[in-house]
Amino acid sequence: MSKLMTAVRNSDLHSTALGLLQKRGVTVDDIIELVYFLQQDYYPKLTREECRMHIHEVLKKREVQNAIITGVQLDLLAEQGMLMEPLQQMVKADEGLYGVDEVIALSILNVYGSIGFTNYGYIDKIKPGILAKLNDKQSGKIHTFLDDIVGAIAASSASRLAHSQFHAD
Ligand code: MG
Repeated sequence: MSKLMTAVRNSDLHSTALGLLQKRGVTVDDIIELVYFLQQDYYPKLTREECRMHIHEVLKKREVQNAIITGVQLDLLAEQGMLMEPLQQMVKADEGLYGVDEVIALSILNVYGSIGFTNYGYIDKIKPGILAKLNDKQSGKIHTFLDDIVGAIAASSASRLAHSQFHAD
């Protein structure tokens, strides 16, 4: 069978990815605050509605949807203790040397170019808003993959916004 015939429909992936973010406690408003945090100093007239528009465009990308469904699946399996050892232990502990969570985030950043990487590094270090919540190890939830994915979506949306401003000048 050809690859085309087995491909999942874009609309199915999009709604699944959005549903998973919501299920894991991440709203578009949370991501808006991250994008606003990253860009407000550069664009004093920036509105949250502009941020929302760029986030929605980023969430339409298949690379982004694939990262969300893959990462959330692994986080959920880890919460249920279903991963093989030693992967289970590494994902549960969010081990610094594991690093595959960051590689999945890179698959999102790759779509939007170099400004995205800088923004991602910054936001990952500061961990404002929802990123601090996702990183809270006391919650009983595992967000080893999701925190990097949400950071990458925000960084990519900020990058898209920055490029659109540049072209508007
Ligand atoms: Mg992580």
